[in-house]
Amino acid sequence: MAIDPVCNMEVDEATAQWTSEYQGQMYYFCAPGCKSAFDEDPEKYLSGSSEHEGHHHDHEHHHHS
Ligand SMILES: [Zn+2]
Repeated sequence: MAIDPVCNMEVDEATAQWTSEYQGQMYYFCAPGCKSAFDEDPEKYLSGSSEHEGHHHDHEHHHHS
């Protein structure tokens, strides 16, 4: 079983009707809506839970003495 990266449902690779290849990897979807959501912004679903990763937080350096 593969996991639909959009909704985390299990999808059977053998019967999956909606698939997408991204960076050489096949992804399987339970519904066309999941596929199109993934196609629009694959990184969003592959980079973990947070929606917009990649904010740079500038950590101030504390100067001691
Ligand atoms: Zn789905």
